[in-house]
Amino acid sequence: MKTNFHTHTYRCLHAAGTEKDYVEEAVSKKLDELGFSDHAPFPDKDYGFRMKYEELEDYINEIDKLKNEYENKLRIYKGLEIEYHPCYIEYYTALLKNYGFDYLALGEHSYTTKSGLFKNIFFAEGTSDYIDYASNISEAVATGFFAFVAHPDLMMLNEFAWDTNCDKACNLILDAAEKYDVPLEYNANGLRRNLTHYPDGIRHPYPDERFWKLVSGSKIRVIVGSDCHSPGQLRDEAVSQAENKCADLKLNVIQSLF
Ligand SMILES: [Zn+2]
Ligand SMILES: [Zn+2]
Repeated sequence: MKTNFHTHTYRCLHAAGTEKDYVEEAVSKKLDELGFSDHAPFPDKDYGFRMKYEELEDYINEIDKLKNEYENKLRIYKGLEIEYHPCYIEYYTALLKNYGFDYLALGEHSYTTKSGLFKNIFFAEGTSDYIDYASNISEAVATGFFAFVAHPDLMMLNEFAWDTNCDKACNLILDAAEKYDVPLEYNANGLRRNLTHYPDGIRHPYPDERFWKLVSGSKIRVIVGSDCHSPGQLRDEAVSQAENKCADLKLNVIQSLF
């Protein structure tokens, strides 16, 4: 079975391709299931790097139209990649119940510290920030709103060596995934990023092998995500590499969320 549940579109303003372009690509690559997960807008705030709230309806209508049009060729799912904050509980509920989304992928780019500061994980000031970040993920996973955690090891892109905070943060995420049976995504987009010099070695910013070694041997379900920002990235070479790595690590890989 060939699938992908992490797909962006031109609407997020940093990706190329319309919904139809991705559907056509999926059909030509003989996928069985395609899930759209563009970066979700919030009704009251513009976090940037994502579709405008006013465009949400168009996104929904376009995917619904394609679902019908390609009914016999491809199973299409309507999703969003979205950050968690407890103040948006009603919004997540509305997206799933009223707007008819099939799933929400938890894509934590920003997070809130214990003291209430709003921070971006791309600019961590130290590994202690990873613990706040992981606590946000853990809290999000417990709500039951999210079908999987996108790039759960994204924090590792920061330029710090592995230390005990990393162990603590990773275990917070693993414990939540295990307890609530929420899959973790092995993200192929990290493999598309350059190999980078870190204080403790050369590696891709993410996925981080040390995180996935902790997952290995657990019951946690793992899904490979293309995280494509152009149609050509749908199940490309990076995805094959990701699948090989998951096999090497003997991860409990699933193909579908449904
Ligand atoms: Zn993106
Ligand atoms: Zn993404």
